[in-house]
Amino acid sequence: MSEIDLKPLKPAIEKFVPLGRSGLLPALHAAQNIYGWLPEPVAAEISKTLRVPLADVHGVIEFYSMYYNKPTGRNVIRVCTDPACGLRDADGVLKKLCHQFDLDPHQIHPELDLTIEPSPCLGMCDQVPAMLVTKGDRAIEDFGVDKNFRPKSLVGGTLRMLTKNCGGETTSLEAYGGYTALKKAKAMSREQVVEEIKAAGLVGRGGAAFPTGIKWEGALKAQADQKYVICNADESEPGTFKDRILLLDDPHMMIEGLSIAAYAIGATKGFIYIRGEYPYIVPALQNAIDEAKAAGHLEGFEVEIRVGAGAYICGEETALFESIEGKRGFPRVKPPFPTTHGVFGKPTVINNVETLCNVPLILEKGAVEYRKIGTEKSPGPKLFCLSGDVVKPGVYEVAFGATLREVLEMAGGVIDGKKLKSVLFGGAAGAFATAEHLDVKMTFEDLRAAGLPLGSGVVMVFDETRDMRDVLKRLGHFFAHESCGKCYPCQMGTRRQMEILDRVAEGNPQKGDFVRLQDVGWTMTDASLCGLGQTAASAVLSAMKLWPDLFEVKS
Ligand code: SF4
Repeated sequence: MSEIDLKPLKPAIEKFVPLGRSGLLPALHAAQNIYGWLPEPVAAEISKTLRVPLADVHGVIEFYSMYYNKPTGRNVIRVCTDPACGLRDADGVLKKLCHQFDLDPHQIHPELDLTIEPSPCLGMCDQVPAMLVTKGDRAIEDFGVDKNFRPKSLVGGTLRMLTKNCGGETTSLEAYGGYTALKKAKAMSREQVVEEIKAAGLVGRGGAAFPTGIKWEGALKAQADQKYVICNADESEPGTFKDRILLLDDPHMMIEGLSIAAYAIGATKGFIYIRGEYPYIVPALQNAIDEAKAAGHLEGFEVEIRVGAGAYICGEETALFESIEGKRGFPRVKPPFPTTHGVFGKPTVINNVETLCNVPLILEKGAVEYRKIGTEKSPGPKLFCLSGDVVKPGVYEVAFGATLREVLEMAGGVIDGKKLKSVLFGGAAGAFATAEHLDVKMTFEDLRAAGLPLGSGVVMVFDETRDMRDVLKRLGHFFAHESCGKCYPCQMGTRRQMEILDRVAEGNPQKGDFVRLQDVGWTMTDASLCGLGQTAASAVLSAMKLWPDLFEVKS
């Protein structure tokens, strides 16, 4: 290891010293940009500079899948192998790429300094099979990928409120406007802003559907010298890609929403935590922050972008706090709740991107007008991510209350005129619907009554020819890979679930597997610490109800 030259590392990580432990993830990113991976002397230098115990530095490196503690190519091609990409032969693409460069997955090509690896969902389920190419010092075109990579997505629907500026290039501040909703908010008292959000009936769009106004009210009432607001842009649910589009095409809408949240609770500092698989959004987002700052819209409010490093669990709010604090993304036991004990132990409001994009809309229209969109119990616009076997995958904006059939028709229906086999609602943590559910209204209340989760708005479609055992196998692998390992039911359960689903996919389930899979599923649901484990079996259990024959032992 003595050949590692630490000279370029020192200036690259020194700027993170004032952040202390919280600077660990940014420092590791900076180091990995230099060396392509994180060798021992580099980890030791970071430990010394940031005064973080070396064991903790190693713990963090090992936790996040986008940090490498073994040599890897400075150029990495990640091929998504999750369900939507699996439908378009992602495994074949991975094999073909490896063959083309004469490599096994995770090996290094010595001349090209290239590694190819399978990856969990890359948030591009509308353009499958998805790949993400990150580079060291070589041009990306060398690998046949456009260097100005910017995923272009289809954006449609019957409403264009949240997505009015989406579907093209990144919207500049000039085109976006003068943060009029923020100005309106600042002319009101903090309490009035919170009341307006409560009156609008806004609930979180990230999956948990918690009332946003209640969350804000809790943080407003909390007494503290410092409060924080956080935009949760760790969009990692397989099948979800709407936040990518909102952030890349119209970043000011979210920033304005975050600024209103900060004003409402009295926070002076905000974070935007974006997943590591969205590196191409970071410059657009930083540019938008700089534009808003230069125009005076962020007076008294400092916003910082933090980039994740490949951990689905960091979408869980308390795991995300840990990550910002420079730790492994282990969820915390609740209570206490983030509104009183959030990031750095301070009152914190954390909202998802789409939730925050609703905030300027509510302030502009007023709660009464906003409530005219959607239904009484599910007011407002909603974005759905259509992927899988549909003619036109993309993001569709509708008022809550559109039926599944209507949304599917917007996306051109099932491909090649085939019949619908099923729809995975809510992503990997969701449940399967069938043609029976086509006329269910897409609202929180109607879907709940039908036993389906709205989740983050995933509508992943499977045609009549699909082998659902392969889909289930991919879900099993996803959860086994993403379980953080903090609690036993999920750590062990996701592995057992994966093993059984592997046998099922091979057409070789063992006697007793059906009952075992149910036992494992319900144990995880009932006994896991956080939402990941509690929902890791929900899609599988719904499939067992719909298609029990898939799990039958052949004699
Ligand atoms: Fe970690 Fe799973 Fe337990 Fe959540 S449920 S804390 S992801 S092991």
